[in-house]
Amino acid sequence: MQALKLVSSGKMELQDVALPEFGPEDILMKVAGAGLCHSDLHLLHAGDDWPFFGNTVGHEGAGWVEEVGSAVEGYAKGDAVLVSVIWSCGHCRACIQGRDNECQVNGSRLQFPTTPGIGPDGAMAEYLVVKARHVDKIGGLDPVKAAPLADAGVTPMHAINTARARLTPGSTAVVIGVGGLGHLGLQILKATSGVRIIALDSDDSKLELAKGLGADLVLKSDGSAAQRILDETDQYGADAVFDFVGIQPTVDLARAVIAPGGALRFVGLGGGEFTFSVGIGQSMPWGMDVQMSYGGTRSDQQQVIALAQQGKLGVEINEYPLSDFQRAFDDLEAGRITGRAVLIP
Ligand code: NAD
Ligand code: ZN
Repeated sequence: MQALKLVSSGKMELQDVALPEFGPEDILMKVAGAGLCHSDLHLLHAGDDWPFFGNTVGHEGAGWVEEVGSAVEGYAKGDAVLVSVIWSCGHCRACIQGRDNECQVNGSRLQFPTTPGIGPDGAMAEYLVVKARHVDKIGGLDPVKAAPLADAGVTPMHAINTARARLTPGSTAVVIGVGGLGHLGLQILKATSGVRIIALDSDDSKLELAKGLGADLVLKSDGSAAQRILDETDQYGADAVFDFVGIQPTVDLARAVIAPGGALRFVGLGGGEFTFSVGIGQSMPWGMDVQMSYGGTRSDQQQVIALAQQGKLGVEINEYPLSDFQRAFDDLEAGRITGRAVLIP
């Protein structure tokens, strides 16, 4: 079968490899589509010390069950499934508490938990082997359109779920970056809360998309954006801010507009820095809580699937044949993708 390998810093190759072997608890999935995440660009450029050269990339995968291991129950050939982005242990204290994206066994204090395509072989291939306990059935959803839900849907869902207490009707939520993650985050906010949504991007076509998806106000992410958001909120600030970019200008913007008691969620991995002093002359509003959000839980995934099945969450997809992966990566890097690119083997 064909599989897209990250072979060295900045270099990928489509290779012919043997069909992967699978064990009793595994599913062999025929990949329908694999979403292309901005994180794939980060790891492509992670440098020579990247520990997983030679592995298949792609952490957003969906497809059809091709074969099941001897101990697998409840799945049959042809079932459409979505592969979880977090391959947690399922039995540590964090997993038992429903924090499987903070797994103690398959992750560690500074290391995110096992993620397909960032360690184990991922979904940019014709077939993928995954433990049956890391997939969810998606029923009648088209797995090509559903693939990005695994991360671009689940990760915003998690960040939003951890901010639920601030998302009451009458509140204002700010979405920074209406890309793959942001355009789904916006829809999740719209479908599951009564907040007013202000969406920001540096690109006009993304702002058009945000408008079409129901943002109450769209703003160009520039030097005047922070003051505009403060003006819109009587200078109190936004009750929740979701930064899906994470570069210094967006981190600074998030800091400048968060309200007292506000939920600040950093999701984008652009390398921006966030510091604050603790004391009477404090630099941030009292009560603000900050989280660096990684992926999401199985529960978040099932909520995302449910919303998609209800027609309340849809991925704007751009399809590319797997063989044309370079064009897809180039388009993403150049900002030419509105929504999500999906590679089709
Ligand atoms: P994307 O390329 O699809 O979208 C990024 C969006 O940000 C684009 O619409 C772009 O126009 C916009 N943007 C760029 N500069 C901006 C600025 N200054 N202000 C406002 N908007 C700006 O990327 P994506 O796949 O949605 O990923 C977004 C980020 O989230 C990446 O850094 C990615 O690595 C990260 N990520 C994190 C997690 C996690 O678990 N924490 C999971 C997936 C992705
Ligand atoms: Zn991702």
